[in-house]
Amino acid sequence: MHEMSITRSILEIVGRQMAANNMNSLKKLTLRVGELTAIEPEVLRFCFDAAIKGTQFDGAALIIEEVPLGGRCRECAGEFRITAFDNCCPKCGSTNIDRVSGDELDIISMEGD
Ligand SMILES: [Zn+2]
Repeated sequence: MHEMSITRSILEIVGRQMAANNMNSLKKLTLRVGELTAIEPEVLRFCFDAAIKGTQFDGAALIIEEVPLGGRCRECAGEFRITAFDNCCPKCGSTNIDRVSGDELDIISMEGD
């Protein structure tokens, strides 16, 4: 379950940010998670709730924005969702495509006091 170690690293970063901003409690944390990270949002939520119990983050709500694996065609510049690694452009059929999204794991916002 790699979500637990990911949760710990995220909370470490959040803790540092909170200290830097003189925040004592966390109310809401928003993350952007790409499809390619293989993170299950429900598992991440479960780990998050377990990890924050009894800590300065206790009671915080976790908001997860899921980002699908997106591609862009180099031939026609069309953008589309990649559903398999051998995918091709749905508009012109080219296999000359770039991956443009899906590997995100970002802290978007933190709210607290
Ligand atoms: Zn194309």
